[in-house]
Amino acid sequence: MKMYPQLLIVVLIGTASGLTIIPRDGWNARSPTNTQYMSNPVPYVVIHHSESPGACYTEADCIKAMQSMQNYHMDSNGWADIGYSFGVGSDGNAYEGRGWSKVGAHAPGYNSNSIGICLIGNWMSDLPPQNQLDAVQELIQYGVDEGMISGDYELVGHREVTDTDCPGDRLFSEISTWDHFVDM
Ligand SMILES: [Zn+2]
Repeated sequence: MKMYPQLLIVVLIGTASGLTIIPRDGWNARSPTNTQYMSNPVPYVVIHHSESPGACYTEADCIKAMQSMQNYHMDSNGWADIGYSFGVGSDGNAYEGRGWSKVGAHAPGYNSNSIGICLIGNWMSDLPPQNQLDAVQELIQYGVDEGMISGDYELVGHREVTDTDCPGDRLFSEISTWDHFVDM
């Protein structure tokens, strides 16, 4: 029994800066119908918003949002899985989608050489809360530290590579101030 607190500490420091990454089984993800792998580290990070579902502020609501996006991507779009590599909620948690090493379905031309991160919510006129923005940056840094994202990665908004409003005007103006952002 005395081992348990030590094990717990190991789990908590498993990611940098207190970031929590909820694995697929933590949100009851469905199994993918097909899986393709990509090589790491990847050179790009692509930022998205969900538009709908809207922002989620509790883990329970963010789990529902992840499930609803996965259902839509698989059942309506006919994709193999949720399209994004990760979702990030306004609860400050990151949620594993396809993860670090699987080809995504979020930005044609970049699906096999990027990590696609979706900030759950509609960020056209509102800025995501600071804990959500921090979680995205910590997730990217963790990916770099773990060799999943290249140290000289380029950060882009979805609208730079596809004809779309994504990731919303307000969020796009925010990420354009971040390190590694490239104006494409
Ligand atoms: Zn997008």
